[in-house]
Amino acid sequence: MKLLFVGVQGSGKGTQAKIVSVKLGIPHISTGDLLRGADGGLKKEIDSYIAVGKLVPDELMLKVLGVRLFLEDCKKGFILDGYPRNMAQAKKLDEITSIDKVIEIQISDVEALTRAIYRVTCGKCGEGYNTKTNPSKKAEFCDKCGGALTKRADDNEAAMLKRIGIYHKETEPILSHYKSVKINGEQKIENVTRDILAALKIKN
Ligand code: AMP
Repeated sequence: MKLLFVGVQGSGKGTQAKIVSVKLGIPHISTGDLLRGADGGLKKEIDSYIAVGKLVPDELMLKVLGVRLFLEDCKKGFILDGYPRNMAQAKKLDEITSIDKVIEIQISDVEALTRAIYRVTCGKCGEGYNTKTNPSKKAEFCDKCGGALTKRADDNEAAMLKRIGIYHKETEPILSHYKSVKINGEQKIENVTRDILAALKIKN
């Protein structure tokens, strides 16, 4: 199954994509993670866009993603999280492959801002925490693996406002390009998962 998870920053699409990818046995491909993990010559250029909340240019993005989508583990399908982010990217994706279902996780802008500002992630295992609503027990370390918790450079108010603005202006139009299923993202993680699996007609 080839799936797109779409939602404003902080909607929980990454968290849900991780859970559903394990359930379905298909890889979770986060374009944000791919870009943050890029090395070599492209890294400096990529980081300069991410730090201020701008989109990485489409061609550069496609260079990184194109390689990933054709790896062996994507043969059975994938969950794409963070791509496409505008109509040009959606059209490019249509040229490369066909998507079975698009899941849109909805939260308000205020919720998105609050979630991102308090978000910290384990640098070792990727577990996410919220310093206000879901803190780790040992302030700066991960409860699961003991790794150090880090804050993303673009999870600050200025960059977030920019990212939310880009989402509404550039990303939302892709939702009418595909037939998306809307899921309420402002509920407990397990209930969001339940609703996604129901939309995909998969037993929880
Ligand atoms: P995310 O982790 O999905 O919030 O992405 C973090 C940042 O990576 C974004 O603010 C963009 O700068 C960049 N990025 C991620 N996906 C894309 C994409 N599809 N096109 C362009 N830039 C992207």
